[in-house]
Amino acid sequence: MSDFAVLDAPVTSLPGIGKVKGALFEKLGIRTVGDLLYHFPRAYQNRGAVSLLASACLQEVATATVLTVGSPPTSVRIHGNRIMTRFTAFDDSGKCVITFFNQPYIKDLFTIGSAFRFWGRVERMGRNYQMTCPEYEPFSESYRLPDFLPIYPQTEGLKSKAISQAVGLALHELKSLPDPLPKDVRQAHGLVDLLDALRAIHLPADYEELNRARRRFIFEELFLFSLGMACGSKKEELLPENRIENVDLAPFLKALPFSLTRAQERAIKDMQKDLSGKTPMSRLLCGDVGSGKTACAAAAAYTVMKAGRQVALMTPTEILANQHYKDLAPLFEGLGFKTLLLTGALTPANKKKVRAQISRGEADLVIGTQALLTSDTTFARPGLVITDEQHRFGVNQRSILSGKGDQLHTLVMTATPIPRTLALILYSNLDISYIDELPPGRQKVSTFKVDESYRARLNGFIEKQVMEGHQVYVVCPAVEQEDPENGKTVPFGYRPDAPSDLPPLKAAVDFSKELQQALPSVKVGFLHGKMKSGEKDAVMTAFARGELGVLVSTTVIEVGVNVPSATLMVVENAERFGLSQLHQLRGRVGRGRDKSWCILMSQAKEDSPAGHRLETLCKNYSGYDIAAEDLKMRGPGDFFPKPGESTRQSGEFAFKVSFACDDPNLPPLAAMAARAVYDADPALGKEEHLETSRALKKLFRLSENTLN
Ligand code: ADP
Ligand code: MG
Repeated sequence: MSDFAVLDAPVTSLPGIGKVKGALFEKLGIRTVGDLLYHFPRAYQNRGAVSLLASACLQEVATATVLTVGSPPTSVRIHGNRIMTRFTAFDDSGKCVITFFNQPYIKDLFTIGSAFRFWGRVERMGRNYQMTCPEYEPFSESYRLPDFLPIYPQTEGLKSKAISQAVGLALHELKSLPDPLPKDVRQAHGLVDLLDALRAIHLPADYEELNRARRRFIFEELFLFSLGMACGSKKEELLPENRIENVDLAPFLKALPFSLTRAQERAIKDMQKDLSGKTPMSRLLCGDVGSGKTACAAAAAYTVMKAGRQVALMTPTEILANQHYKDLAPLFEGLGFKTLLLTGALTPANKKKVRAQISRGEADLVIGTQALLTSDTTFARPGLVITDEQHRFGVNQRSILSGKGDQLHTLVMTATPIPRTLALILYSNLDISYIDELPPGRQKVSTFKVDESYRARLNGFIEKQVMEGHQVYVVCPAVEQEDPENGKTVPFGYRPDAPSDLPPLKAAVDFSKELQQALPSVKVGFLHGKMKSGEKDAVMTAFARGELGVLVSTTVIEVGVNVPSATLMVVENAERFGLSQLHQLRGRVGRGRDKSWCILMSQAKEDSPAGHRLETLCKNYSGYDIAAEDLKMRGPGDFFPKPGESTRQSGEFAFKVSFACDDPNLPPLAAMAARAVYDADPALGKEEHLETSRALKKLFRLSENTLN
């Protein structure tokens, strides 16, 4: 079989995988052998970190030990007709009784004096230790066992071990593989080829090898993403009648209740230039929360409406649509334009009426949720589509733009602070304007880092805020439970120098009980992602109304929540959060007139990496400064969604490994490499780009005519 054919062959073509198992693999999204090979471990058992029995016993999870067999195994029949086989083994720190059930054949394996690496939980047994049914591998000084054993995302009925075996079989079949990274790109950036990288990512000999493979796959993902965005953003020339020139903004500016900041002026100038340019505008407006993006979008809308075209303003939520309608309808009314609102709250009859008005061209500006405006709404004379709060790059811009004509101008707005080098790759299909200045007179949320010794004072402060009629958020990190079965593991994005002795986590539900006991006079509620959406709404509403004084929550409140009377944000285990996330959390307070605070509770030492992070937050208030610091300190991985976090919509790119990127140079290098390939061969038709093109089509589900 050729290697192409191996990759495309169904997993059921592998020995030992029939229909039933095949269906389980399909549950994990694995249909072909290629899918299987790209199903990367989520973590690795660190069997290279061998402990002595005495210290292994102190750990509550599975650990690696190397022991020498000290007594011959003996088998006895026990109740339930089971056979128990036992022997002792030892290391320099003590003696361990090892027990297996129903495996009498191991008698011949564990001969006196032979050494094994065991993996399992070590427990005390009198003055000795014990292990029950550990995993084992023969150990010898001359043959080095791999340090890392892969742990795969698994599913009911299909365990990691079975996946590992299937991967082993697939890898065994392969002699060479076509590589989606062109050879010269690999050479220029010192990247291992696909087959070696696959072998190393699934069964790395050591940390260095794992790291090389990881680097290659991260580069590959960023490269393909960037190239796909470039291929998808081919623009056609703007017809002269769709160019919008010579519109005087003076009446609009006069109608605004404030004068623009310089950053807003710059962004508006960028857009005026786009609208009168040779190709349709496709611009991203990046600006921190409250930087005044709406006014900039309104200026663009005014320009387009003045030229006789309609504008659609799309929002992710109805709340936001209503808010924009309230602000913009009167403004434009005064300037002679009609604004309509199209939301799910309208009756079917009213929706129909609004849609008819849009298609007859009676509305100049239409505000609504994306779903309503992209479905069966037709515009008589469309000119500009604005999308607000385009978070991350979750929704594929391509899908928003499609269907309404390629001659449309588009504007996308986001408040997610992304360092500029990363924006280059994430939004490589868009031109970007930054609004890096806040309107004058904004209050700063005073931010402090405190440790447990302040607990009592903090509780007093919380109580005081609530007594004064304010509300308080307390955010706890999501609880990641240690997997007792898999023991001491190393996550995919592992770095050897990362701190491992973190304090115990505060979990939202438990902590809300603790806090309620400490503050009996205050009403404490909790909120987390696993609650039903009705429950969540009820809690949020109670909090917004002030019926709850304190809301203990996971990061579900990170974006979009607006309770202006909340004045205090407490973050527990603040060292667990990324800077950008902390900044977003802090943005939940300081939204009203009252002085607001953000308290970061953490045991992190001042001179530790976490300490520096928290310090940065106490001193900086701009999302962009913070994002730049974050990139410097933590690497780019944090800016990408973790697997499972991206909302897998059709046609959307699913990032799998970029979250583990720790080299700030990698994204810009991958973007540049992609650019160079695109410039040299935009259709990716050259022999050396065939596999690249194949991979792209698969990842983006691009239509045949985008790439030929
Ligand atoms: P965002 O960028 O988060 O969408 P908005 O556009 O909602 O921010 O603006 C936040 C607030 O700031 C609004 O109340 C708006 O009226 C006000 N605002 C915007 N620009 C200015 C300005 N140049 N001077 C004063 N206030 C402004
Ligand atoms: Mg906004």
